[in-house]
Amino acid sequence: MSYNENNIFAKILKGEIPCKKIYEDQFILSFHDINPQKKIHALVIPKGKYTDLDDFCKNASINEMVGMFKGIEIVAKKLGVSIESGSGYRALTNIGNDGGQEVPHLHFHIFGGEKVGKMVS
Ligand code: 5GP
Repeated sequence: MSYNENNIFAKILKGEIPCKKIYEDQFILSFHDINPQKKIHALVIPKGKYTDLDDFCKNASINEMVGMFKGIEIVAKKLGVSIESGSGYRALTNIGNDGGQEVPHLHFHIFGGEKVGKMVS
C-alpha cells in the first residue's frame, strides 16, 4: 500500500489538525489518543512517511528505528507508566486489515494507568 499523504496523522504532523502533544523530537511525535481505551492511551508516530510496521522495518533507516523505540521509552517514562517511573504498560501496533489498523501511518499505542487486560479479544 502506498502512503496516503492525507491520512489524519499526516495532517497532525503538518500541524493542520491539533493534537494533545506529549513529546516530540526529530524522529517521533507523541500525543494522546482522541478516543482513549484505557486511563492512559497515547500514540507514538514516526515523522517519516511509513504506512505500518512492515513498511517501516523494510524502509526506515537505522537512526529512524532507534529513534522510534527510544521515543516509546521516553514517552512511557513521561507518562509515568514505564518500569522505571510506574508499573508497566502495553505497546501495540496494528498492521493492515487483519491487524485492525485504521490510520495508515505507523503508530504505536501506549496503554496504561491501569491493568490493560487480555492480550487479544
Ligand atoms: P488503529 O486502529 O489504526 O491502530 O488506531 C488508530 C487510533 O487513532 C485510534 O485509537 C483512534 O482513536 C486514533 N485517532 C483517530 N483519529 C484521531 C485524531 O484525529 N486524533 C487523535 N489524537 N487520535 C486519533
